[in-house]
Amino acid sequence: MTRVYQVMQEAIQKGLKDKKSSSFGMASDNAKLSFKLLEKNQKTLLSPLAIKAMAYAIATGEHNCKMGRIVAFPTAGGSGVIPGSIIATQEEWELSEKKAINALFTATGIGLIIAKQSTFSAAKAGCQAEVGAATAMAAAALTEMRGGTPQQAINAAALALKNKLGLVCDPLGGLVAVPCIKRNGLGAVHALGASDLSIAGVKSFVPFDEVVQAMNNIGDLMSEKLKETALGGLATTKTGLKIREKMKLPKIKKR
Ligand code: SF4
Repeated sequence: MTRVYQVMQEAIQKGLKDKKSSSFGMASDNAKLSFKLLEKNQKTLLSPLAIKAMAYAIATGEHNCKMGRIVAFPTAGGSGVIPGSIIATQEEWELSEKKAINALFTATGIGLIIAKQSTFSAAKAGCQAEVGAATAMAAAALTEMRGGTPQQAINAAALALKNKLGLVCDPLGGLVAVPCIKRNGLGAVHALGASDLSIAGVKSFVPFDEVVQAMNNIGDLMSEKLKETALGGLATTKTGLKIREKMKLPKIKKR
């Protein structure tokens, strides 16, 4: 897990520095732009921690899109949420590296519950199973890392996942770029919020196991057009179709 942590750190640092655009321009330097909100000391609505978490998550997503090395934790598409939120919190709260690494074990534990009862596959259950699962794992890990109880940690996971239920997978041109990268950035902020709520004593009415089962059920009910096929949602907007054209993908028949 120490190695996993190191690769996460490297991906964030490289992602923040890299200014070049990916093919089709869907990943550029948005991590850098987000991070500048801190450097310039601008007035922001989010706390510096949340901004850093968002920038770090976007950095990982951009690095992934530009074929850099990331940790698929739990998947490549959802790889920004966990390092973004955990490493930003570790830095801002001046916590030890060991605490962050332990938090990754907590995230893994939540991931195992999801893997056993449902899936991480967007082709089976949409983005709720990728970025959604990542936010649940991150929320629990953050809660453990800040000294919360196991009950508060799993409750944070339930709060996080409940609010990602139904999230479809609709990447433009089928590439893990748009909306994936920014979904990771905002997913990291979402995880911070779920952890704060749980620490405040807000309880999820539906327990985590049941939320995971609901995710599975929603995945079964979801149209295949919204499961990684790039045949619906954002992928078939005017902009999405232009990307398809540029990529010389077959035209989609409208129904
Ligand atoms: S939209 Fe699809 S490809 Fe992109 S992160 Fe979500 S699940 Fe992965």
